[in-house]
Amino acid sequence: MSARLIDGKAAAARLLQEVAQDVAEVRARGIQPALAVILVGSDPASQVYVRNKLRRAAEVGIRSLSHELPADLEQIELLALIAALNANPEVHGILVQLPLPPQIDEAAVLQALRPDKDVDGFHRENVGALALGQPGLVPCTPAGCLRLLQDQLGDLSGRHAVVVGRSNIVGKPMAALLLQAHCTVTLVHSRSRDAAALCRQADILVAAAGQPGLVTVDWVKPGAVVIDVGINRVEHAAGARLVGDVAPEVAAVAGALTPVPGGVGPMTIALLLHNTLSAAQRQHPHAVAT
Ligand code: NAD
Repeated sequence: MSARLIDGKAAAARLLQEVAQDVAEVRARGIQPALAVILVGSDPASQVYVRNKLRRAAEVGIRSLSHELPADLEQIELLALIAALNANPEVHGILVQLPLPPQIDEAAVLQALRPDKDVDGFHRENVGALALGQPGLVPCTPAGCLRLLQDQLGDLSGRHAVVVGRSNIVGKPMAALLLQAHCTVTLVHSRSRDAAALCRQADILVAAAGQPGLVTVDWVKPGAVVIDVGINRVEHAAGARLVGDVAPEVAAVAGALTPVPGGVGPMTIALLLHNTLSAAQRQHPHAVAT
């Protein structure tokens, strides 16, 4: 058996097309959706992520404001910028690219965002809304994974989903979304006993551990749908390469599998722009077509 490759690029392109149409409608009603992106320091991977986000925003008609700040920025200066963006009615979404330099308290910065502009969904108000099943902004990567799973399987109800990784950014919100979709959910993490046996029970396996090749063939039930969130830079004689958390041999047993790159990554950016649009719509309900 050989797994179907889940084409995240194509799924993201479809979603971006829908976002572009809805952005055009909102603009026709006099609202220009806008996203502020804050990058502190010059981490090369973060610079690439930010560049991609800004490019895609322009493609769907979302205005972006890029704030590139020095690595030695004081926390108080960053909080002042966030306060100004929170108060600016022409800015609907604010994204602070992580990680932040060590002198800045990441949690304090994320809690300073106005929850209805927190397009990454990391503010405790949005985290709480997700846990309670109430409307709010949902973290982009797990929201993208959920869409890919629903494209593959339709109704997820009753399926056993195992999520490897319990970070606030991916693992925990992924588990909350799968629970909301009526899956039976198991969270596996670095202290779990016999991760392989737990994962082998999964109809849906989401790997988000940041460990190259962690999920091997003996972790996967034949026919399972496997979502590989991992993005790991591995050095080779021929240069650096990006690999996921799932070993390539898993393609022989899984029913469907996301590639790295070209799987979850493109969906994350599409969901960010989707969140920016919905933030603008919620802030200006009159600009939404009825
Ligand atoms: P993290 O380091 O914050 O969390 C990793 C989690 O994996 C932890 O909860 C840890 O308990 C668990 N873990 C680590 N080793 C394990 C093991 N051997 N067995 C079981 N569990 C283990 O990472 P993160 O921010 O959640 O990111 C995870 C991966 O996803 C990284 O590779 C990251 O680059 C990638 N990522 C990709 C996207 C995307 O758009 N595709 C977005 C965010 C993160």
